[in-house]
Amino acid sequence: MSDAAPPIHFKPRQVRCPACAGLSLYSPNNPYRPFCSARCKGVDLGAWASEEFKLPDGTPPDEPFGDPRLQ
Ligand SMILES: [Zn+2]
Repeated sequence: MSDAAPPIHFKPRQVRCPACAGLSLYSPNNPYRPFCSARCKGVDLGAWASEEFKLPDGTPPDEPFGDPRLQ
């Protein structure tokens, strides 16, 4: 018996990325197919939502936990 993997007749082809309408390689090598990139795939998953989780302007970043003045 042979352990050789069965031949896979999978011809990579180019498709239109649903996000940017650019060319995307539809192949096992492209984990983001049919999108052309992770970024485009993220767009389809709702990139606008992540915008809402952004800190509003003016919010101090990473304020130290435990203000000594309060103790
Ligand atoms: Zn794209």
